[in-house]
Amino acid sequence: MGLSLHFVVDPQGWCCVGAIFFIWLYNTLFVPKLILFPRFEEGHISIAAIWAYYLTSIFCVISLLRASTADPGKLQDTPKIPLTEQELWELCNKCNMMRPKRSHHCSRCGHCVRRMDHHCPWINNCVGEDNHWLFLQLCFYTQLLSGYTLVLDFCHYYYFLPLKAINWDMFIFRHELALLRISTFMGIVMFGGMCSLFYTQIMGILTIQGIGVHGRHLLLFGNRVA
Ligand SMILES: [Zn+2]
Ligand SMILES: [Zn+2]
Repeated sequence: MGLSLHFVVDPQGWCCVGAIFFIWLYNTLFVPKLILFPRFEEGHISIAAIWAYYLTSIFCVISLLRASTADPGKLQDTPKIPLTEQELWELCNKCNMMRPKRSHHCSRCGHCVRRMDHHCPWINNCVGEDNHWLFLQLCFYTQLLSGYTLVLDFCHYYYFLPLKAINWDMFIFRHELALLRISTFMGIVMFGGMCSLFYTQIMGILTIQGIGVHGRHLLLFGNRVA
């Protein structure tokens, strides 16, 4: 399946994507600098822990970019309707185009999307037939990264021995506690949100009539504009 690039012009969506990107950047910069590298140098953790963090972080940001820019399943201007499916297609009264069943019109994107799940402001894109799997990947890697970050933040204070050979004159080490508290707060919000979202998505896929489950998460994470 080819993935054509797709950009939604929506300043509010850009702000939401920017906020998610900021959280990713903040943790990818500060967690290795404040926890992983000093702990590795003092022999508390192995190099594999650093590689695992960076790999998860890279997978996370790539899946964010792909989910944000992939075509969610936009209907073509002149769709070819198979003869056997003609009765199942209907006219969208917003864009005056024929669309298959389970398509919905998204007023933020301004077009109909096949098998639209919802419009997610956090990726500034609809989640539909062609990018649903990318959205699930994003949820999965974000859970992994935020969970790993929380474990590291916790171990840094409550499990590992205090660091000895760090430079307290450096700004980030002088404000280490505040910086890592912000990281922990972000981790709790992201991990909690992503677990809930991933669970409702998986339940929606496993349950054919999963509208009730979807309906609840749409209130929290996006809006389907039919
Ligand atoms: Zn439409
Ligand atoms: Zn949309």
